[in-house]
Amino acid sequence: MEIGKENKFVEFLKKYGIYVVVGVVVFAVALTFTLLAALNGSVRTGGGTLDFTLPMNNATVVKDYSDTALQENSTLNQWEAHLAVDLTSEDSDVFAVYDGTVASVGYDYLSGYTITISHSDGFLSIYSSLAEEVEVEEGDKVVAGEKIGSASESAEGELDMGAHLHFTLMLNDDYVDPNDYLSLQLK
Ligand SMILES: [Zn+2]
Repeated sequence: MEIGKENKFVEFLKKYGIYVVVGVVVFAVALTFTLLAALNGSVRTGGGTLDFTLPMNNATVVKDYSDTALQENSTLNQWEAHLAVDLTSEDSDVFAVYDGTVASVGYDYLSGYTITISHSDGFLSIYSSLAEEVEVEEGDKVVAGEKIGSASESAEGELDMGAHLHFTLMLNDDYVDPNDYLSLQLK
């Protein structure tokens, strides 16, 4: 009985051992890449990998992203989706999250002073509710971590929030949750 069982096992290994080995190797490689990506805080996007940095020092999330659940906007007294993350920090400095080109610097009543930076791979990062004195102008090249402005109360649409950065991330013209690309909650 024992010998019979052993022979069956050996036969199984001879027949299918290669598939077991290939399976284990594929799993190990996939796991390694997943762990490396998680450690770097980087994200694979199409052909490339972007390593975003955080837009503020030791940022606190004061209002999170939500595309389905409505959140109360006490300034405008309405419930709305919030397709951005609102952040504050002690020094209020705002930094570019990745290398790119300043696509626009503008102002509108609800969003306040806003800088939009165009990155590779279809990403746009948008920094709203900034103080009027910004550090860049349209067409400027910026690098990850470069200071571009300061958080303020310039967004009339979110005045109740006090001085903060309203940070928006877009990928191929769609709003995406910045939490999927930056570890905002950890800082
Ligand atoms: Zn906001």
